[in-house]
Amino acid sequence: MKTIGYAAYDTTSPLAPFEFERRDLRGNDVAMEILYCGVCHSDLHTARNDWGWSYYPIVPGHEIVGRVTAVGSDVTRYQVGDHVAVGCMVDSCQHCDQCDKGEEQLCREGNTGTYAGADRITGEHTHGGYSKNLVVREEFCLRMPAGLDLSMAAPLLCAGITTYSPLRTWNVGPGSRVGVVGLGGLGHMAVKLAVGMGAEVTVLSRSNDKGADALALGASRLLVSSDADAMAAAGSAFDLIIDTVPVKHALEPYLPLLDVDGTLVIVGQVGPMAEFNTVPLLLGRRRVAGSPIGGIRETQEMLDFCAEKNILPDCEMIRMDQINDAFERMERADVRYRFVIDMATLAVPAAA
Ligand code: NAP
Ligand code: ZN
Repeated sequence: MKTIGYAAYDTTSPLAPFEFERRDLRGNDVAMEILYCGVCHSDLHTARNDWGWSYYPIVPGHEIVGRVTAVGSDVTRYQVGDHVAVGCMVDSCQHCDQCDKGEEQLCREGNTGTYAGADRITGEHTHGGYSKNLVVREEFCLRMPAGLDLSMAAPLLCAGITTYSPLRTWNVGPGSRVGVVGLGGLGHMAVKLAVGMGAEVTVLSRSNDKGADALALGASRLLVSSDADAMAAAGSAFDLIIDTVPVKHALEPYLPLLDVDGTLVIVGQVGPMAEFNTVPLLLGRRRVAGSPIGGIRETQEMLDFCAEKNILPDCEMIRMDQINDAFERMERADVRYRFVIDMATLAVPAAA
């Protein structure tokens, strides 16, 4: 199937239209028309090759909401017309212990990224959701619960699951004290989800500019991370800190904020971190951990949880041709709190 998307062609040029093929349907494949795609900071990292594994051209986008247009002969769970979603993975080995547990993101053979991956059968590069159509195997297709606003739900597929998963892993619930570092796409979902689980949430931000927003999102306060007095007063105040900062940074200001046995989980920076002193770790039996996205079963659970609790991202809808401006604004943290591309603004090539 011929389709069109927006691709990065190298590490510096603006994204531009790109015509390419989606594979013919295999027996277990679902084909969809993409309706909406969220803009994740990982898309920008990938366009710039910040992590060293990009290829060009590459079509980013892994917060995908669509409508099924065709299904393979063996597909049992989806029908033409169903509203579906795809997140950061499109395949895994499906037979290791992690896949068996529904933790495909931890697949022993490595999961296949929605973009920046290689098809497990043909080896072809994968391309993401800044495009008109997608073909994905049934096991990696999620069902959009009735009642979730399709035009706002896309960011749940990455920002949502990436924060929901550690909140579940570390058993957040009523009475938990959660800190969220960086109020962006992931951060604002961490706040909404933790509040939805009954936790008391504090935002840690670089300034007080988002103070009113933090409260509106359900947090009980915002701490300015450069305010030494406020940070000192918050010593031992958190059971869990979710750190969404997208660049190398110092952990030292945050570690003393954890209570005994508390965990700071890194979901933001992928790569080197600033050197830090282990004293607060040892003396408080504190931990530093990491967490990647979440499994398919947990992603479906998160979608259903959001539908039940009416939790949706705060979105700014953009046209496909505004993506380069959106990238620049995201880099300046000038987004409240997720850009979503209306894929109806991308025309299909005449020959399709
Ligand atoms: P985002 O919307 O740009 O938000 C990041 C937030 O971090 C900003 O709003 C800002 O919050 C803070 N920040 C930005 N630049 C900073 C800097 N130089 N120093 C300190 N704080 C800074 O990004 P996102 O989409 O939430 O993604 C965040 C990171 O998570 C990215 O690196 C992305 O690649 C990664 N990610 C990881 C996973 C995973 O599986 N673990 C999944 C998705 C994304 P304040 O203005 O409040 O300070
Ligand atoms: Zn993402």
